[in-house]
Amino acid sequence: MKQSTPLPFFLVVDDGAFPKVHGHHGQPIPFSAYETILRLAEKFNMRIPICFTMGYLDLGRRCGDIEPLSYGTKLLKFIEKHEDRIEFAEHGLYHRFGNTTFEYFNDHSQEGLGEAEQKQKITTIKNIFKDLGREFPTLQVPPAHGWQPGVTDRLYAQVGVKDIVSYRFRKHILRPLDLVRPKRLLKALSSYAYIWPDSQHLNFFPRVSMGILANDINPHGGFLAAKVKRYILPGPYIFRRLLHRTPQPFAVHSYMTHIANFAGPDAFEFWAGLLSYVQNSDRLVLAHDHKEAKALYQALPDSLKLLSGSSPANVGLT
Ligand SMILES: [Zn+2]
Repeated sequence: MKQSTPLPFFLVVDDGAFPKVHGHHGQPIPFSAYETILRLAEKFNMRIPICFTMGYLDLGRRCGDIEPLSYGTKLLKFIEKHEDRIEFAEHGLYHRFGNTTFEYFNDHSQEGLGEAEQKQKITTIKNIFKDLGREFPTLQVPPAHGWQPGVTDRLYAQVGVKDIVSYRFRKHILRPLDLVRPKRLLKALSSYAYIWPDSQHLNFFPRVSMGILANDINPHGGFLAAKVKRYILPGPYIFRRLLHRTPQPFAVHSYMTHIANFAGPDAFEFWAGLLSYVQNSDRLVLAHDHKEAKALYQALPDSLKLLSGSSPANVGLT
């Protein structure tokens, strides 16, 4: 199928306020990561959402069991000053439950945290925003993509959230054994392990990975830039099949990035190069803010909104 409609391209940054890569260990994330995002937003006339994990901005110490970010006050002032270039979005309270990086719902085991506990977390986040003198953001990105349809989205709608940006599907993880068992390989490449339906309470917008990991602290050109271009949709057929598990070109609202991906000394150059590539591509259209990304996505023909229905029958196309 030839794809002629340019597909939207937009960035949403996860793990805002994380003190370190992965939150608990690894290299510290410097304040300069936020300055890099601001410089990119200014250069490309964008307003980039950063999704904050609010336990790290709990300056009033409501939680008690999470250490607030050392430069939290400075960061909040910075965001307030540059609200025209950075959108404050929300990304959970702790970014963990038990030993996982999920907050509300583990889509591997398909177990939710329980409504009462989810509500308690969201109420705590609401109170942190109250402490900070901020409204609850209207954009929510669930930690580790996990939200429980009918529960997490309903609770978020009650505190004023309007839009949820997350994965539409969880891929099967390819295991070495799959390579020698053709039936298993075919299944892994032509269906999904889990599919989220549309939300009945929020506007759901799909995202995918662009192949940059949460611990890529200093992305730079060469191999990574080439890898990212294969992930960006529509992408070459073979990579779309391997990376996104479908032969069909399809569109997303945005691509996932992490705050650590803006931390290193080469990060600005890397991202500026990628955004220039998008601007110059006739297959992509750069959205400048969340509002524009939504409008571009919503205006697309249904044929490009893979999995837009709530039925799993739409997926696993072979
Ligand atoms: Zn995250």
